[in-house]
Amino acid sequence: MMNMIYDINNIFAKILRGEIPCNKVYEDEWALAFNDIAPAAPVHVLVIPKGPYASLDDFAAHASNDEIAGFYRALGRVARELGLAAPGPGYRTLSNAGAHGGQEVPHFHVHLFGGRPLGPMLR
Ligand code: AMP
Repeated sequence: MMNMIYDINNIFAKILRGEIPCNKVYEDEWALAFNDIAPAAPVHVLVIPKGPYASLDDFAAHASNDEIAGFYRALGRVARELGLAAPGPGYRTLSNAGAHGGQEVPHFHVHLFGGRPLGPMLR
């Protein structure tokens, strides 16, 4: 269900509509994963749900159980398919929300980082 705070012209909405390109890593009915344009680690993938949700809390409040399950299954699958999940070297996920979170793009997304030891959680 559409919510009132979602900006349909945000850059990830444009990627979902095919209006601008992305370097796709994975796609299914529920999620799209693509490489971050400014990677902060050797692996830096963004995983986004296909529905119009601005943040994790918006997604949790308004997405269906199928959307939530599909999204998180896709996120885990990407971590596995990239060879990061156990018995591989591991990874980190992160989701920014709002001003203090440093969110730049107002479409819910999870950053998936890997490819090197990632250091302390916050710097
Ligand atoms: P956040 O601060 O969590 O909203 O992060 C937004 C992320 O989107 C940043 O890491 C950007 O580098 C990334 N980004 C912005 N535009 C694009 C794009 N067109 N394709 C891929 N990644 C992008």
